[in-house]
Amino acid sequence: MRLRLLPSSFPGSSHEVSAPRVAAQPLTSFVVEGQGAGPLAVDAGSLGLVGEPAEMGRIAGLVLTHAHIDHVASLPMWVEALLSLDRAPVRVHASAGAIEALRAHLFSGSLFPDFEGLREADGRPLMELVPFLEGSPFELVGFQVSAFPVAHPVPTHGLLVDDGEDALLFGADSGPCEALWQVAASSPRLRAVVLEASFPERMQAIADGSGHLTPATLAAELERAPAGVRVLLAHLKPAYREEITDELSRRVGDAVEFLEPGPWVELAR
Ligand SMILES: [Zn+2]
Ligand SMILES: [Zn+2]
Repeated sequence: MRLRLLPSSFPGSSHEVSAPRVAAQPLTSFVVEGQGAGPLAVDAGSLGLVGEPAEMGRIAGLVLTHAHIDHVASLPMWVEALLSLDRAPVRVHASAGAIEALRAHLFSGSLFPDFEGLREADGRPLMELVPFLEGSPFELVGFQVSAFPVAHPVPTHGLLVDDGEDALLFGADSGPCEALWQVAASSPRLRAVVLEASFPERMQAIADGSGHLTPATLAAELERAPAGVRVLLAHLKPAYREEITDELSRRVGDAVEFLEPGPWVELAR
């Protein structure tokens, strides 16, 4: 199994031929591949911005953790890319609550057209929003995916993604979360947990109020991590990234790994 954080920012000068990779990641999208499974995208913050349409079309499935804009910002562009490859209906898996938000606010006819209501000439809808159920694992492009609610102010789900040999746990956006560690403890094939660290500790009140972690609350969460399971971090708010990484190195040393945009991270045992 392997995991990739997609880039979502661009070098400051478009004239630099060998511009350095930008660490700041305002949008969230992951791609995971497993034994005969995937590629599966988790979230679509920048999914529709990375590569040519044919490259985006390699993504076989998409599941969303929630409908906050940093996780769905480029969803319309990704759906359009797949439609250009005759992939209607493009299926997007999400919770009923997230689907309600997408219908009401994104594919509403005002921000973007209602792709569920539009049809190809042969009658196929352009898009299907497919609800998943908590506690009912479902098969998606060769993975078994299990969703569980996490601590965030809108309907938000952590996702356990399992290819039968290895499993990966996405914590989504969340404050401290009992359910996540229960799922982790009951997943013998678990190789890694992807967590967030959105704010520095001086912003603890904002983090608590908005359902996010700081290095302080993350460090407390890590005490519950099963032995031998890697902890991968993403979703550091770009303006505070250095502050967050400094605080984390003081609190937990090398107990966590920061996901850099672009390269694959190998997770198989
Ligand atoms: Zn969020
Ligand atoms: Zn977010």
